[in-house]
Amino acid sequence: MTVTHEVFNQVEPLSGHDLLGSDRSLQDTLRHLAPALDQAPLHALGRQWGSAPMQAHARLAQVHRPVLHTHSSQGRRLDQVEFHPSYHALMQAAIGAGLHGSAWQDAAPHAHLRRAAGFMMFTQLEPSVLCPVSMSYAVMPALAGNAAIVRDWAAGLGSRAYDPELKAWSLKAGLTMGMGMTEKQGGSDLRANTTQARPDGSDGWGQRFRLTGHKWFFSAPMCDAFLVLAQSPAGLSCLFLPRVLPDGQLNGLRIERLKDKLGNHANASSEVEFDQAQAWLVGEEGRGVSQILEMGTLTRLDCALGTAGLMRAALSLALNHTRQRQAFGKALIDQPLMKQVLADLALESQAATALALRLAHAIDQSDQPHERQLARLLTPIAKFWICKRGSAFAQETMECLGGNGYVEEGGQGLMARIYREMPLNSIWEGAGNIMALDLLRGLRQGDALACLQQELAPSRGCHAALDRAMDRLPVMLEEMATPDRARRLAQELALLLQAGLLTQIAPEAVWQAFCESRLAGHWGQAFGMLGPHADADAILARA
Ligand SMILES: Cc1cc2nc3c(=O)[nH]c(=O)nc-3n(C[C@H](O)[C@H](O)[C@H](O)COP(=O)(O)OP(=O)(O)OC[C@H]3O[C@@H](n4cnc5c(N)ncnc54)[C@H](O)[C@@H]3O)c2cc1C
Repeated sequence: MTVTHEVFNQVEPLSGHDLLGSDRSLQDTLRHLAPALDQAPLHALGRQWGSAPMQAHARLAQVHRPVLHTHSSQGRRLDQVEFHPSYHALMQAAIGAGLHGSAWQDAAPHAHLRRAAGFMMFTQLEPSVLCPVSMSYAVMPALAGNAAIVRDWAAGLGSRAYDPELKAWSLKAGLTMGMGMTEKQGGSDLRANTTQARPDGSDGWGQRFRLTGHKWFFSAPMCDAFLVLAQSPAGLSCLFLPRVLPDGQLNGLRIERLKDKLGNHANASSEVEFDQAQAWLVGEEGRGVSQILEMGTLTRLDCALGTAGLMRAALSLALNHTRQRQAFGKALIDQPLMKQVLADLALESQAATALALRLAHAIDQSDQPHERQLARLLTPIAKFWICKRGSAFAQETMECLGGNGYVEEGGQGLMARIYREMPLNSIWEGAGNIMALDLLRGLRQGDALACLQQELAPSRGCHAALDRAMDRLPVMLEEMATPDRARRLAQELALLLQAGLLTQIAPEAVWQAFCESRLAGHWGQAFGMLGPHADADAILARA
């Protein structure tokens, strides 16, 4: 072949970096929330997960999607999902790092915050395998409703050994769990569940039931067990359903098919039917929704953490690209209008990081009443707002890469994966409206106003717009705590709390610009309209 042209002005992919070392915002947020936390082990994980071999696993696990085998060649039911080896490598890495249930067994301070930082970094490598990892983390408080099962399963759920084999719990080195709530006729309105749970005696794990029915969304069906909702004689109940029964027999769980999803391709999400499946009661019969939502609360935390991590990944790609790519005689990052876009994105990313980790910290400290109440309020606020901003953020960062942002190939393909992943964190575990309505419920518990005021107090006097927003808080809660205004209220509270956190964590250039844009209204309907009051150079230097 003749050489027709020289290839130049193309960008070297972002690889081989420390996901924590390159993220000042994450480091500073951790330092603010937990000054004594040793960040060195997180740096080691950051280097591992920013490495080229792990990036190759992430790409391969997405490209080679899971395959369902419903039957063996002899016609027997198998109900097994086959994954690419890279999926297993990623699962091994995430579980080996304790991103699943280990935090519950870690007596060291800040165990959940440390895990949250790890979760945020791993998301930047590959988010879909974190679905079963997140559910295995989140299940512990809900599972506590059955002490006998906890006694048998807690060690496996906290074990850092990844064991993908389908066999009885007692033979496994490590265990994972999922959850099944959503049915065809309704996911948000769980009262519409029709799956039936018929009493079937009792044994060492307590009251046993036989389940008949279905779940329309059932992610990570190769997990070892699931918490599911079903209608028992006393009403909707939370039940523990293992894939393999204690005697080694497969339980009556049929995987009908896998979902053909927009993104999240490495993770299998399935439709299942229960055919006389055996399950054990967790918590009080008839109070299943509140029982299983103890799990939902923590998966919502992970949606916020995951989106904040994806934002950081997308921002890193945009910064990497615009620093290398020249247009009209300059690096893109030095073009005044591109600076505006990148600086605005950097503000959004740092605010998301701060809010998501503040929530993780509150969960860590939930033995303190203020932190417990704050976690109750922050969960729907952070899940709503951070996830809502995710898709717009991904679109804008993709545009920073120009046409290369839209292709699947090479390092840039990560941008397309991020873009496809973003809407998911907003939809599952309670979509936006459900989160905004849940905030209203949270505001009715205890003295929510006092809790928010206490949280914001250290930021008083930093910025006039922040002070005004704090002064308006009582009226805001009074006037806007209605279903038709709940989204607006969630947005206002998110921005206020993010601004407050940034004044404590970030350099002045960051919080000044955040308050001017998000609170004082010097902003636009798209990213990149910060205006002359923002010190874009300082914001970008930190990003
Ligand atoms: C990839 C993927 C994996 C999933 N995995 C699982 C899983 O493992 N286990 C599981 O149980 N579920 C899973 N889900 C299901 C998911 O949690 C639900 O799709 C979600 O909760 C919404 O329920 P729905 O689809 O029934 O929508 P609907 O409940 O019909 O909601 C549709 C829309 O209406 C809004 N809405 C609902 N009620 C109100 C109201 N009162 N006021 C205003 N707006 C309202 C919602 O916010 C939403 O925007 C998964 C979903 C996806 C996409």
